[in-house]
Amino acid sequence: MSYVKTTGIVIKEVHTGEADKILTIFTRNLGKITASAKGARRPRSRLIAGTQLLCYSDFVLFKGKEMYSINSCDVIEPFYDIRNSIEKLTCAAHMTDIINDIAQENQPSIDVLKLFLNSLYMISNSKRPVLQVVSIFEIKLLSILGFAPWVNGCVNCGKKEFENISFSFVKCGFICKDCTAADKSAVRLSEGAAKAIFYIVYSNMQNIFNFEASCDVLDEIRRVSKIYLKRQLEKDYKKMDFLKCLKSHKEGI
Ligand SMILES: [Zn+2]
Repeated sequence: MSYVKTTGIVIKEVHTGEADKILTIFTRNLGKITASAKGARRPRSRLIAGTQLLCYSDFVLFKGKEMYSINSCDVIEPFYDIRNSIEKLTCAAHMTDIINDIAQENQPSIDVLKLFLNSLYMISNSKRPVLQVVSIFEIKLLSILGFAPWVNGCVNCGKKEFENISFSFVKCGFICKDCTAADKSAVRLSEGAAKAIFYIVYSNMQNIFNFEASCDVLDEIRRVSKIYLKRQLEKDYKKMDFLKCLKSHKEGI
């Protein structure tokens, strides 16, 4: 019998049969895998807790011909608090969509897994605005995947400054005032926003959330990360739009 032990987080679940599930799990050792969880929807199943969406667990898996099957699982972090807020849940669902798209089978990425888990932890447990967590997640993820923007001065002429800088989506990085004229889609950044983006790209994973930013700076970073994500991954992720609808609905009442 071929058993494998790994930790991983459930990023997709599909109900099958009377009480089974097919899970997509982003694991530490195996990258993205598909695994069946027999009987996991029965109330007394020993798999019920660890096979919930967004649950991070220790898994013992049996390697079958077509997919793994879960022999046992022990919950490490269930991220329960995320389920208590529609805003938190939407942000987590958005990040999970991206992870589902970029994670590959048999290609473990410890940095991506750490970033995802840290971001979920921040959304679940910290007072940091959730939109800020999502922007940091997006910029850092793209950096890990090889799409790090050039933030070490002007990408065009090399001038090193954080004042009068814009973010160029065409050049994939910072661009100075003198070079911006030819790039109509560049987004002007305050010095604070430019420094924050520089920090996100260059900081190590442990310190990535250790900076303060004003609401205005947050809005600037959000604008950049949203467009940059869409351009680099060539996909328009729509789940976050729901928060805008929710906000305008609330304001309309
Ligand atoms: Zn320049």
